[in-house]
Amino acid sequence: MAERLLVGALKGGKNTKIVTLNGKKITKMPSALEKLSGLKILALQNNLIQVCPEISALTQLTTLNLGNNLLEEVPEELKYLTSLKKLHLFRNRIRRFVPEACDGLQNLVLLNLNNNLLTSLPQEIGRLRSLLYLTMNYNQLASIPKELCLLENLSELHLNYNQLICIPGEIKFLKKLQKLLLARNNIEGLPEGICDLTSLRILDIAGNIVQIFPPQFQNLKLKEFYCEGNPLLLRQPVHAVIQDEVWSLQEIASRFVMNQLAENNPLLMQAVEHYPQIKDIISRGKECAICGKSFVTTWLECVEFVPPSKNWKISRNLQLIPLQKLICSYKCFNHRGPDLFGIAQV
Ligand SMILES: [Zn+2]
Repeated sequence: MAERLLVGALKGGKNTKIVTLNGKKITKMPSALEKLSGLKILALQNNLIQVCPEISALTQLTTLNLGNNLLEEVPEELKYLTSLKKLHLFRNRIRRFVPEACDGLQNLVLLNLNNNLLTSLPQEIGRLRSLLYLTMNYNQLASIPKELCLLENLSELHLNYNQLICIPGEIKFLKKLQKLLLARNNIEGLPEGICDLTSLRILDIAGNIVQIFPPQFQNLKLKEFYCEGNPLLLRQPVHAVIQDEVWSLQEIASRFVMNQLAENNPLLMQAVEHYPQIKDIISRGKECAICGKSFVTTWLECVEFVPPSKNWKISRNLQLIPLQKLICSYKCFNHRGPDLFGIAQV
């Protein structure tokens, strides 16, 4: 059956644009395909293909579907498919993403790697600059490389059902990201950079271990937000005796320097240039949510509960969003508003 279809296609020679061989129990890519150098669309879904060196000749391909086969890697030969726009590799046994595969895929718009066995991605994935849709649900990814955040055109990123524990802070560079799906991972917290994603409309973090959100989170212009199945902090105040702490000399000096720099003290601005170590310390400075002044190490982690935006479509039962707020001292803590609570360190 497959042979007959191919014979027909071969008669077309270079004029054949589409070959569909879905569900034909093919174990090896037919080598005759190499003669169809003008081929645009090749569908080989639901077969038993393990390797596919023959695709390197099909340089005009725009769509390749190898979904539901037996591939064990994202093969290097893909680098020759410089016209490729859509690549479906879902439901294979892919454990390895050969970095060189990314070399020629500058026009790739859609990459579907759902239901594979990937534990990591190569940093070269950042070269797929035309990518709009990247979907990798149901893999075993423990992390994503920060280079993925170089994909400045990316509109949708699907990472449901993986083993991620965090998202890189560089996510803030994905300015066109509209849909971010992170359900059923082991994510402990979202980076502050997520609040810079002004295009983001759909965020799903259901089934993670998030307790609290970064400070500007409620400013996101979301339309849909799903967060059920997370151990979010609840507004259940417990009274405790708070003891003031003695700051270290370094902390006192750091605060002095940072506040002087904020006031553009020319002497200190000049001097600090000669002390990279000090620059490094004050670069880690945080801003107090009460007084607005900077501090480095002595801080209280607090939580403020804010109602979600009325425009968000949200998970049921989510009445208040816990936002992280850092405070410089117990003095400021005592000047907090009624919705701000300290978080007990266990
Ligand atoms: Zn303060």
